[in-house]
Amino acid sequence: MDELTPAQVVELREDLRALEVELQESLVATADGVKPVDLDEPIGRLSRMEAMQQQKMSEANRARTQSRLRGVKRALVMTDEDYGFCRTCDDPIGYRRLKARPESALCIGCQSELEKR
Ligand SMILES: [Zn+2]
Repeated sequence: MDELTPAQVVELREDLRALEVELQESLVATADGVKPVDLDEPIGRLSRMEAMQQQKMSEANRARTQSRLRGVKRALVMTDEDYGFCRTCDDPIGYRRLKARPESALCIGCQSELEKR
């Protein structure tokens, strides 16, 4: 895998900042959906279960978004020398992978090792 060019680092950092804003906005926008279901509200049994299911799903979504946002923030504080290299094996992560997920901290090899466990 090739190391990033300085221009690619600049570009990916812009992607990271845009992603940070996007994820933060999505957390604000979904904040209403995770209010606890009001059990006293006179809705039917089924719709209450549906509402709780909905809430679980939106909580899971938000947890994913929050963890991605943490990754983005971690990547943003990295120096240009560190950014783009695998946290585990120190190999270049590669532009294509970073373009898809600029917050990637692992190369594809280490990432799939991690997911196997
Ligand atoms: Zn690696």
